[in-house]
Amino acid sequence: MRNPFETEERKAFRETVRRFVETEITPYADDWDEAGEVPWELHAKLGALGAFGFGVDEKYGGLGFDDCFMRAAFSEEFYKCGATGIPAATGGRSISIGPIEKFAPDEIKDRVLEDIVTGRKGSSLGITEPGGGSDVANMKTVARKDGDDWVINGSKTFITGGMKSEYFVVGARTGGEGLTGISLFFVEADMPGFSRTLIDRKMGWWASDTATLYFDDVRVPARNMLGQENFGFIAIMNNFNYERLGMVAGSVGMMKACLEDSIAWAQERHTFGKPLIKHQVIRHKIADMSAKIDATEAYLNQICWLANEGEMPVAEVSKAKFFATKALEFCASEAMQILGGAGYLRGNRVERIYREVKVMAIGGGSEEIMRDLAVRQMGL
Ligand SMILES: Cc1cc2nc3c(=O)[nH]c(=O)nc-3n(C[C@H](O)[C@H](O)[C@H](O)COP(=O)(O)OP(=O)(O)OC[C@H]3O[C@@H](n4cnc5c(N)ncnc54)[C@H](O)[C@@H]3O)c2cc1C
Repeated sequence: MRNPFETEERKAFRETVRRFVETEITPYADDWDEAGEVPWELHAKLGALGAFGFGVDEKYGGLGFDDCFMRAAFSEEFYKCGATGIPAATGGRSISIGPIEKFAPDEIKDRVLEDIVTGRKGSSLGITEPGGGSDVANMKTVARKDGDDWVINGSKTFITGGMKSEYFVVGARTGGEGLTGISLFFVEADMPGFSRTLIDRKMGWWASDTATLYFDDVRVPARNMLGQENFGFIAIMNNFNYERLGMVAGSVGMMKACLEDSIAWAQERHTFGKPLIKHQVIRHKIADMSAKIDATEAYLNQICWLANEGEMPVAEVSKAKFFATKALEFCASEAMQILGGAGYLRGNRVERIYREVKVMAIGGGSEEIMRDLAVRQMGL
């Protein structure tokens, strides 16, 4: 569908990302997925493309501008590789760059931000805890003031890129119970008291490492607090918006991959004397998938326009996230059905995408929590 917000610049950016994904990622996607990691050079290659630089000053290796449409185009094209552990492994840093860029003092930014943004070093966001991820306001990790330092105790789990990252943005309780007692901290992996273990054998996102982090009296200087004391919850919620939009755009890419592979297979495969594509039931599946893709894409474009206008529509972002992941679940299932037994074999995009539907529906705010948030935003 033609995008009314398309410009020459956005089109060129999308083309660059598409070519990069087609040549530098898709041919290796299955191998990296099976190997459970991507080569570190890929981080730097993506950094050179500007993948992690939206909204970041050029002096830190950023693009010096932001554009929600370009962010969305990047995620959509990247997720088409159909092994979305690859964007998770490399792009996991994106959800921690915002708080560092916005809240860290110059001393920290000057020392670490360029390395993160250009892909030389990794960073991760640590919010979810073993006791729960949805109820962020109830987090148990604590930071206690001791002289000029803060001392952090607790643990975080399901942290994307957590085994390889040097830097972390971590939520911890600095005040009373509930959402008004949380602050964000910048933590470095070589700080005494920090340790981590790998969460192995996931359903999907094989190419991305996922970690549990432990904080055992981790002492950080006061300047490592990101933003205002006890105002971390708001920062976490604001940070979720671009993460969720990235997942909506990624879902569009995954759905398009499902549709493309379904059409290609349905044209080639013959049953009962004609190509699959000539059977009405299959044609209807294709029509349903295509309609869901159009609807999600149009919704995303409208949200991107609002975000660019400075009016990030939180309710719509939440609704778009669960709308997109439900549409993705449908498309992955129908694509698998069209491919039949061939789809069930390892080594094809549809099989990988089918395994990765659930992380899209749970990570970054589950479908249930997204519905709750949307209705709360409606004032109900
Ligand atoms: C592969 C992967 C990577 C991840 N990466 C990161 C990361 O980098 N950083 C990070 O901080 N987190 C990360 N997460 C964590 C993710 O954000 C959480 O899994 C998610 O927020 C849900 O939290 P939970 O798993 O603890 O489920 P819970 O909060 O325990 O919820 C369990 C189920 O109950 C539902 N539920 C909860 N409360 C309600 C309610 N009030 N009403 C109805 N239903 C409810 C939820 O929707 C969910 O379906 C990742 C998760 C995965 C799987």
